[in-house]
Amino acid sequence: MDSYVRNVGGVSPYGYSWNAGVLEINKWERNIVLLIFKYALKDNLSPHKISQMLNEHKLNSSRKGKMWTYKTVSYLFAPERIKFYSGYTDNKRGNWEPIITTEMAAELIRKKIVTTSGKRPHIHKYLLTGIGRTVCGYCGGNITSVLDKTKSGVNRYYYCSTRGTYGSTRCGESKTFPMSRIDEIILRTIETQISNITEIEKWTSVFYKKRDRQIKTKLDILDKKISASLKDTTNAKSSSSSMASRNRISDLMIQKEKLIEEKLDYYNFAQLTGSQIERLHLNKQKELVIACIKRIQLFNDKIIIDFPFIINKSGRSSITKEY
Ligand SMILES: [Zn+2]
Repeated sequence: MDSYVRNVGGVSPYGYSWNAGVLEINKWERNIVLLIFKYALKDNLSPHKISQMLNEHKLNSSRKGKMWTYKTVSYLFAPERIKFYSGYTDNKRGNWEPIITTEMAAELIRKKIVTTSGKRPHIHKYLLTGIGRTVCGYCGGNITSVLDKTKSGVNRYYYCSTRGTYGSTRCGESKTFPMSRIDEIILRTIETQISNITEIEKWTSVFYKKRDRQIKTKLDILDKKISASLKDTTNAKSSSSSMASRNRISDLMIQKEKLIEEKLDYYNFAQLTGSQIERLHLNKQKELVIACIKRIQLFNDKIIIDFPFIINKSGRSSITKEY
């Protein structure tokens, strides 16, 4: 690797090397480009997370053995760069071998991982928006954010998105929710759970054992019903009764599949690491909220937080915080 030639064209684009004035694929770098795109398309990882993964696997950025950063990863997602990797520039086919197909390029561009200038889009600047976790406690509507600039300063609020709809009578009860107090409560609550994680893992595993026993009982009953229906199908005297029992079997199979899925649903505690959440970067904080909270319901005077694990001895998985 690394046998690129400095050429009139400058430093070769990542994934390629210059060879006698011709861009040639650099196999090592091409594999990394493909891995980066796979992380984004299949695993939905952010450029930040991708850079961490690559560094963890010692797949250093390149040429000077530098570590990846979210900036160097983001750069590959700039629409012009994606087109280049599919063999095009300015909508014209170039004379280099593409690394990705035009379909893959289109999919990557559709995903809008970075803006046209190659920067990361900053759409969700607030802890609880854009994470698919926060809802209005009154109507279940999405929560959005609002800035209120006054002489004394800037106040930020969350509010129910259906409340602002003109002429809407929905959600008359919800007021605006003070952002800084709510964010603080959420971060403190997460911190408490993380500091108590050993106990939480114990309670959760007790819950899983009990749940799995109940599921096993239900599965046994379903299996009996299924074999009974199978017998019915074989012994059916008419085609309509045979059809009926076949339909019954497929219903039972669907129920069985759902139960098996439920049985396999275990929370991955390994994702809950780190401490001093208040000092983390906002994106990191958001990742933690996504990882350890199932749902946040905002009310005018309280917040109900649902967790994907058990948080106390009596088997509860939600908590109410007044503010
Ligand atoms: Zn609402």
